[in-house]
Amino acid sequence: MLKTRITEFFGIERPIVQGGLMWVATAKLVAAVSNAGGMGFMTALTFPDAERLRAEIRKCRDMTDKPFGVNLTFLPTLRPPDYPALIRVCLEEGIRFIETAGRNPEPYMPQIKSAGIKVIHKCTSVRHALKAEKIGCDAISIDGFEAAGHPGEDDVTTLILVPLVRDAVGLPIIASGGFADGRGLVAALALGADGMNMGTRFVATREAPVHDNLKQALIRHNETDTRLIMRSLRNTERVLHNQAAEKVLEIESRGNTQIQDLIPYVSGLVGKEMLENGEMEKGTMAAGQCIGLIRDIPTCRELLDRIMAEAEEVINTRFTAMLAGG
Ligand code: NAD
Repeated sequence: MLKTRITEFFGIERPIVQGGLMWVATAKLVAAVSNAGGMGFMTALTFPDAERLRAEIRKCRDMTDKPFGVNLTFLPTLRPPDYPALIRVCLEEGIRFIETAGRNPEPYMPQIKSAGIKVIHKCTSVRHALKAEKIGCDAISIDGFEAAGHPGEDDVTTLILVPLVRDAVGLPIIASGGFADGRGLVAALALGADGMNMGTRFVATREAPVHDNLKQALIRHNETDTRLIMRSLRNTERVLHNQAAEKVLEIESRGNTQIQDLIPYVSGLVGKEMLENGEMEKGTMAAGQCIGLIRDIPTCRELLDRIMAEAEEVINTRFTAMLAGG
């Protein structure tokens, strides 16, 4: 058992967070993470409208009586979401935690905070963490260069970012980017975080609602099998290396890239189809460097049990032996 500011903050048993995962973090996965003692976040933009989000929140409530939250990502998008409506549903459904990601959530803070919802802002730099603290966020999730999806444009690793954010802000911190096991959890805590976030690792679980081809690909590939795409648009995304990622990089290398040139490969709707039918070369799919550490497809309960056992073994046995002089 590890009691930290993050377990206290969420009212959970284990300092492990499943951050928003586009198309993947639906009720089935979120409830499985929360039932296993972690904190699951449902990704609001996965649903076509606010009422579908409401239905999924209710479904999740039927599957768990443990805390879970909703992720709201503010990044450039091809289908502009109705954020006020999504937030209204969270308020009406009694959601207590919202993970915001990407751009500054300030325009939505008054609406979110009006119901006392706590905001965890997921960001990729010290300056954004400071800003999040200033505008009234309640916790920071800090995403290093290793992370899947959008790790920002600064290319600073988790190893550097977490202690820097620890020194800069007083809020509880969740370390994100590169985490997949109990050794990572102990490292995150040693660096000054109060918990760790995992994304890609949760895609390779039994409960993740994606085609088995994708789960097998996460096992098969190693830490060098991700690529950074859309850098030319200053909207960098770390994805699994496949033919679609190669095609995007080839288009970008010609210069003067427009988002329209990339849509056939990067569109979320193409990615959704891939996750459903297992056509692994068709579009791009977010994946972190931690794929090098993924070797099996456990249930969320098995995964979290194992992570906690590994973490406790490192602290109790390895560190204790070191302190005792060998
Ligand atoms: P989408 O189909 O709307 O867009 C596909 C990709 O193109 C996304 O990465 C998006 O950011 C990018 N994009 C869209 N318009 C752009 C523009 N004008 N300039 C530059 N880039 C542009 O995306 P989706 O898969 O339906 O996802 C919806 C939202 O969730 C997007 O904002 C996406 O970035 C975000 N998302 C975030 C993560 C993460 O790591 N936090 C992971 C997956 C998706």
